[in-house]
Amino acid sequence: MPENNVNRSISRVLEALDAALQSGDTAAAVELFQPDCYWRDLVAFTWNIKTMEGREQIAAMLDSQLGAIKPSKLKLAEEEEPATDANGVTQGWITFETDVARGSGFIRLKNGRIWTLLTTMAELKGHEEPKGQRRPMGAEHGARPDRTSWKENREAELDALGNSSQPYCLIVGGGQGGIGLGARLRQLGVPTIIIDKNARPGDAWRNRYKTLCLHDPVWYDHMPYLPFPDNWPVFTPKDKIGDWLEMYTKVMELNYWGSTNCKSARYDEAKGEWIVEVERDGRNITLRPKQLVLATGMSGKPNLPKFKGMDVFKGEQHHSSRHPGPDGYRDKKVVVIGANNSAHDICAALWEAGVDVTMVQRSSTHIVKSDSLMEFALGDLYSERAVAAGMTTAKADLTFASIPYAILHEFQIPVFNAIRERDADYYERLQKSGFMLDFGDDDSGLFMKYLRRGSGYYIDVGASELVANGKIKLKSGVDVVELKEHSVLLSDGSELEADVVVYATGYGSMNGWAADLISREVADKVGKVWGLGSNTTKDPGPWEGEQRNMWKPTQQPALWFHGGNLHQSRHYSQYLSLQLKARMEGIPTPVFGLQEVHHLS
Ligand SMILES: Cc1cc2nc3c(=O)[nH]c(=O)nc-3n(C[C@H](O)[C@H](O)[C@H](O)COP(=O)(O)OP(=O)(O)OC[C@H]3O[C@@H](n4cnc5c(N)ncnc54)[C@H](O)[C@@H]3O)c2cc1C
Repeated sequence: MPENNVNRSISRVLEALDAALQSGDTAAAVELFQPDCYWRDLVAFTWNIKTMEGREQIAAMLDSQLGAIKPSKLKLAEEEEPATDANGVTQGWITFETDVARGSGFIRLKNGRIWTLLTTMAELKGHEEPKGQRRPMGAEHGARPDRTSWKENREAELDALGNSSQPYCLIVGGGQGGIGLGARLRQLGVPTIIIDKNARPGDAWRNRYKTLCLHDPVWYDHMPYLPFPDNWPVFTPKDKIGDWLEMYTKVMELNYWGSTNCKSARYDEAKGEWIVEVERDGRNITLRPKQLVLATGMSGKPNLPKFKGMDVFKGEQHHSSRHPGPDGYRDKKVVVIGANNSAHDICAALWEAGVDVTMVQRSSTHIVKSDSLMEFALGDLYSERAVAAGMTTAKADLTFASIPYAILHEFQIPVFNAIRERDADYYERLQKSGFMLDFGDDDSGLFMKYLRRGSGYYIDVGASELVANGKIKLKSGVDVVELKEHSVLLSDGSELEADVVVYATGYGSMNGWAADLISREVADKVGKVWGLGSNTTKDPGPWEGEQRNMWKPTQQPALWFHGGNLHQSRHYSQYLSLQLKARMEGIPTPVFGLQEVHHLS
């Protein structure tokens, strides 16, 4: 189809949809969708993060929301990029408005009907961020006797917030998640305090094992507003990302309380506010925010296994999150329990330091070489090649978000099949060493495993070669039966001598934080955090279609979970910040399809 015909074919559908939505004609609207269709909405229509699958669910959403949302001006964003037509799919960028917001999104048509639709809230009308044309003046020209400086104003704000005035929002956890969300809330004028038990922003990274570098490349990792400069390394070393976060916190003018431990929180329903007890530099303070965000990390609550004999073992044992790195372990025998990312990183660093190290693999792991991942899976959206082709971070994030999770695996399977084919020799060598491999229950690879269970993989930056050639010793297909005084007994009857045991056994669901800080009752009320309900390993059904409890309203009023990898935190903090801002401003936020709870952890 020539270019303007493509634009015209999408515009015709959008005009018809706009008319149907404005007149509240649900039947006419759903007629424009093909029977196998998806509408993914990020806050704009549902005040939720929700994918409607099929005409029936779309109709139910429209019947519930149209009266309040009042959408209009739905059209092709031709100025963005011309629509395209390939392999039977016509697609393009869209913009629209609702009563209270402006939004953008992406549409795909098959045979002239809508196959997928993404709608996202970009900004609230009347509460646009002070950037670009709206950037602040900074200097106040003219003359005024009682003038105060930027520094004085900033210091006054820091003194007052949490003392003489209360934050509207409290973010517990000042890792990259809490910091990025804090930056967005700052831009939206939502008084916020971020607290972290560590002393300095970035310490969550600094405290990890010394050889750690980000596994994801720089193009995927930018923080909101302030992208890394062009000379930033592809894989950021952990102390460098720590320093970036500390700098970011300062220049984005965040109200960050380091060395502050959140001890407890409870919701005062009558007042509609939280009562949060924190200890700041040894001083007890009570905060009363209206909204509480747990940004305490999905890789923050260690899963420590309970093996017989752990109390008998005479050597050192710790969870991977407490692993200090290899330096203290020269001439020791170390057994690492687990075979995912942390296990590989830790084993490789120990081997480099000349340590005798054995990895114990209980079940299969998905392995993908970092360079293959960059070339095949990320390259079109997040790479120097993508940047050169005009791809922006915002567009990449929206493109990725535009594929509904129900069909994302169909896009991923061919990508990982291609990787498997290209790296066939490598996988064969790895398997020959006894390493148990998988590509996910349905061969859909890394991203689906991450979204479904957040575990079960290693992005190979070198350790797999050491496993394949036996330098990292491997015991696979076995479980730990018992720890003895100086050894680990395995289910195949073998016994590994050990001075040190590292449990690289992953992390628990984030609602465990709610149990610790609020109550078991509230943790159970909100249920499991993360996962799609795909009914694959460690992601039990029923199908949810979105990640449980992340960045959206939960069953506990005014309690939110934020986090994920750098990409997710960057992108979804936008929608969480808009939800919080709307509530602060008293803008009606009718939530459609609040997620039900099926699993407690
Ligand atoms: C070994 C390893 C490698 C990783 N590599 C990558 C990668 O390459 N790319 C990527 O995107 N992600 C990676 N991740 C995932 C990583 O955990 C997240 O990207 C990132 O750390 C999550 O940020 P966060 O802010 O959500 O949580 P965290 O960084 O875990 O921050 C949570 C913060 O909450 C604080 N906190 C917890 N409880 C309290 C309390 N009661 N009071 C006060 N403060 C509290 C903690 O001190 C901590 O600073 C990796 C994780 C691990 C373990």
